[in-house]
Amino acid sequence: MSEIIPKVFRINTGSCNGCDVEFVATAFVDKFHIESLGVELVEDVKDSNLLVITGPLTAKSEPFLKKYLNQMKKPFVVVGVGTCSVSCGIFRDSYAINGPLDKFVEVDVNVAGCPPRPQSIAEGIAKGVKVLNQKMHGEVTPKKIDTIFQDFSAPQTFRGKMALHEGMCTGCRTCETVCPSTAIKISKTDDGFTHNIWHNSCCYCGNCAYFCPTGAIHSTNNFDTAKLSNHKYTDINIAHIEYETCTKCQEKFMPPSRGLLGKAYVHDDVNKLNAKICPSCRKEANFKRMYA
Ligand code: SF4
Ligand code: SF4
Ligand code: SF4
Repeated sequence: MSEIIPKVFRINTGSCNGCDVEFVATAFVDKFHIESLGVELVEDVKDSNLLVITGPLTAKSEPFLKKYLNQMKKPFVVVGVGTCSVSCGIFRDSYAINGPLDKFVEVDVNVAGCPPRPQSIAEGIAKGVKVLNQKMHGEVTPKKIDTIFQDFSAPQTFRGKMALHEGMCTGCRTCETVCPSTAIKISKTDDGFTHNIWHNSCCYCGNCAYFCPTGAIHSTNNFDTAKLSNHKYTDINIAHIEYETCTKCQEKFMPPSRGLLGKAYVHDDVNKLNAKICPSCRKEANFKRMYA
């Protein structure tokens, strides 16, 4: 069995440089353990078999990417670093962008984040090394390098993957509207609606949390974003919110946010009643309560 020495070469296919700065930190700051993976950084693409790509793939950089890929040692693996490389992120639909990367090259590992933390990049490279092993020797599925994550916690107020408090969401679609990365999709179903957050498109800007009127959507400190490429469309936070049935007229209606009702109606009994009736019956009940 021939020995594999993973040789890492990085190219930028249109990144804002945020991901490149994080890559430099990953590669050169000792505490990220990158050397424990046994990888070597090389300056010539012809020596490399693990290509790290940052950026969404601009039209101008596409020919260069092809040129680089043709010169790499075979077999090789590709690790896309940054939300841009995975889904184009905030640059999606721009006239200058031909990406995402996997339209043009077989990507093995995606590391989402805008930019990802060095720990996630190290994890992505580790997974890339395992995939390289697999390609050479048919070895087992890559697994997470626990030590990288055990040693580091996220700082306070860190903006990681977004999450939803289902009971507080009213489906108002504000988050979907203000999201610059089209990472949020709200769809009606027969019995309610679904609220989806696609982590591979999110740029962690926090806009959705800032503008959400009920505080239903929020960021977490989860920055574990390095995934094999077959998880590109499965790393999603899916919430299904069912309609309620009005206790007065039996019509189905969107459940009101308990948080908003609490603000609008200060008395607990009114608050409880309003949570169980539809908007039409609620208007009627409030009118009677105030003027009858
Ligand atoms: S993912 Fe974010 S930080 Fe990385 S290149 Fe794109 S915009 Fe810049
Ligand atoms: S998460 Fe907030 S902003 Fe988004 S639909 Fe729900 S309530 Fe509206
Ligand atoms: S933080 Fe929210 S608004 Fe910003 S990109 Fe992610 S899902 Fe969209």
